[in-house]
Amino acid sequence: EFRRAKRIGAISVSEILRIGATAAQRRREGRPVIVLGAGEPDFDTPDNVKAAAVRAIGAGATKYTILDGTPELKAAIAAKFRRDNGLDYALDEITVGAGGKQVIHNAFMATLDPGDEVILAAPYWTSYADMVTIAEGVPVAVPGREDNGFRLDAADLERAITPRTRWLLLNSPSNPSGAAYSEAQLRPLMEVLRRHPHVWLLSDDIYEHLVYDDLPFVTGAQLEPALRERTLTVNGVSKAYAMTGWRIGYGGGPRELIAAMAVVQSQSTSNPCSISQAAAVEALTGPQDVLAQRREAFRVRRDLVVERLNAIEGIACRRPEGAFYTFASCAGLLGRHAPDGTAIDSDSAFCRYLLDSVDVAVVPGSCFGLAPYFRISYAASEASLREACDRIAAACR
Ligand code: PLP
Repeated sequence: EFRRAKRIGAISVSEILRIGATAAQRRREGRPVIVLGAGEPDFDTPDNVKAAAVRAIGAGATKYTILDGTPELKAAIAAKFRRDNGLDYALDEITVGAGGKQVIHNAFMATLDPGDEVILAAPYWTSYADMVTIAEGVPVAVPGREDNGFRLDAADLERAITPRTRWLLLNSPSNPSGAAYSEAQLRPLMEVLRRHPHVWLLSDDIYEHLVYDDLPFVTGAQLEPALRERTLTVNGVSKAYAMTGWRIGYGGGPRELIAAMAVVQSQSTSNPCSISQAAAVEALTGPQDVLAQRREAFRVRRDLVVERLNAIEGIACRRPEGAFYTFASCAGLLGRHAPDGTAIDSDSAFCRYLLDSVDVAVVPGSCFGLAPYFRISYAASEASLREACDRIAAACR
C-alpha cells in the first residue's frame, strides 16, 4: 500500500498548476485562452548567452563540476554582488544551485529543525510555505496591508517573532504583489531584526532588475551590514535574463551556512548543469543593456494593465513598483452572480468565472495567502494584455 511521508502529506498540488492544466485543456479544445499566469518572461534568452552555452559544449564543459558552482561562475557572481549591491562575498560564501528555488530549499533543509518557524510576508510566493513544510518547519504568514503597498509592517514583524523563529523571508520586488521596498521602508524591518539576533534574513532578490520609475533597488545585507553575518542573499538568472529553463540560481551568505547548504545539495542533485553555468557566466559578465531594454518593455505593460484594470468597476489595482505582476482587488465584485447563477463569492470563484466565461487565466490571491485579489502576470505581449483586459471588463459587465 502506498503511503506518503508525513512531511509532504499536507502539501497538495497547487491551484496555480490546476488553473494552468485547465487552461491548457481548453486550448486543446480550440478555445482562444489567454494565460496570464506564468512566472516567466516571454522574452528569449539573449543570443550571447546561448552562444556561450554552445561554446561550452564544444569545449567539453559537459562533466561534473564542483558541487556548488564553478570558480568562474562564483567569481562572476561575486563581481555581480559587488557591482550591483555593494556586497563583498568570497568564493566560499557563494553557492550555486538549480534555480533560486533549489538555493532556498537548501537553506531551509540545512537550518530548520521540526517546529522551527519562518516568517513570510503575505501575499507570498506559494512555494515558500511548501518548502518550509517539506523541511519540517512551520510557515508563519504575516499579512501586509494594502494601504502599506502589501509591505510587511515592522510592528507586525516584531509581534510575529518567537523563540522558534529562524528566518524572515523577504521578497522585493514581490511575487505576487509587485511591491518593492525603498530604503526607508526596509530600514525599520532591519532594525527589528537587529533586536532579535536569533532571526536570520533570507532576501529573495530574484526580481532585482525589474524595478521601475527609478526606484533604487536595496537588499538587506547592503542596507544593514550588521546583518550580513546572518543573511542569505538569493538571486538568479531566470527572471533577469529570461533563463528560466537553464536552472541557475545563487546565494551569498556566511561560510558556515553555505557549507551546510552544500551538504544538502551534495545528496540531492550535485552540481547544477555545467553548460548552464557557463551560460550564466556570460549572462552576468557580458553586455547588460538587455536588462534596461526589457525593464522598459515591462514598465509599459505594467502601466497598460494597471490603467485598464482600474477602469473596470469593482476592481482596484495599485501600481506595483516591480516584478511583472499586478495584484488587484476584486472585493468590489464579490456578491454578484455569473449569468448562469453561480455566486462570485471569492477570488477563486471570480478567477474560475473569468476562465469559463472569457477564456482568461489568472491566479486568485488566496493562492498567495491573501484574498480577495487576483494576480496577473504581464509577461505577455501588449496585444494579448489589451485583449485580456477587454475580456475581463466584458466579463465584469
Ligand atoms: N523566487 C520567486 C519569488 C519566484 O517567483 C521564483 C520563480 O517563480 C523564484 C524565486 C525561483 O526562480 P528560479 O528557481 O527559476 O531561479
